[in-house]
Amino acid sequence: MSDSVSLPDTDWPELKPGWVWLCGAGPGDPGLLTLHALNALRQADVVIYDALVQESVLDWAPQAEHIYAGKRGGKPSAKQRDISLRLVDLARDGKRVLRLKGGDPFVFGRGGEEAQTLVQHGVPIRIIPGISAGIGGLAYAGIPVTHRDVNQSVTFVTGHDQSGRAPSSLDWKAIAQGSQVIVIYMGMKHIARIAQELLDAGRPASEPVGVVTSATTGTQRVLESTLGKVVADVEVAGLEPPAVICVGRSVLMRQVLDWQAQEAGARPRNLDPLGRGRPAESA
Ligand code: SAH
Repeated sequence: MSDSVSLPDTDWPELKPGWVWLCGAGPGDPGLLTLHALNALRQADVVIYDALVQESVLDWAPQAEHIYAGKRGGKPSAKQRDISLRLVDLARDGKRVLRLKGGDPFVFGRGGEEAQTLVQHGVPIRIIPGISAGIGGLAYAGIPVTHRDVNQSVTFVTGHDQSGRAPSSLDWKAIAQGSQVIVIYMGMKHIARIAQELLDAGRPASEPVGVVTSATTGTQRVLESTLGKVVADVEVAGLEPPAVICVGRSVLMRQVLDWQAQEAGARPRNLDPLGRGRPAESA
């Protein structure tokens, strides 16, 4: 694969010895890597990657040492501080270091913390954004994160805090009332509590909810449910993290935009799920 992908003829930045590039790998599908990520993979001496990075991506860095620094709930994990200091050590050893993280490094990925530690230790950095699961993962499920007829804002929230508990500092009432569409990362463990908070804050039990697990990968699964039923439906379906959960009417758009099903030959279930009664482009 690596030989068959060539970068367009431009001046690509050089990953110099002693530098760390903090790079998003997107939600899973290697095709969602950026060209800057590919450029980085080609030059790295060391790639330190997270659990949510597809290992096939590492084939694009055959010259590099690959170090796993996964952190997944319940499984043995490297401590955040240890990872950050390891990056510092590798840079000081004169390595070209690529720190590869799932999605976007600055979206619920502790990329900010790692970058800060590097700068505090005098290590030069570059940040390479990636496609975040809460946007790109939903797109693969045919759910547009904004739609003119649904929402003028979207709120991204994390379903658990540093201790692994449901985040207590979140004002669920304000979120429920202030944002038509809510996208929840790391929400599976506390999905019952989160759904209840939103119901208590006045969101209707009939509100559409989409749950997308392992989005953009070969094992992607999508559940369409409602706020009132999602907890039971997730259990019956046996869905496992990683998942992004989307609460809001934009989930209905999947009825017309489930392009993966259409690619496999299915017809759209409903050409007008929001009930506009006319093609959007005629507005
Ligand atoms: N930086 C990442 C998020 C890291 S937090 C990003 O921008 O996407 C980890 C959470 O991201 C998971 O618990 C899940 O909520 C979400 N996530 C990451 N990859 C995912 C995928 N392929 N499918 C579904 N959810 C994913």
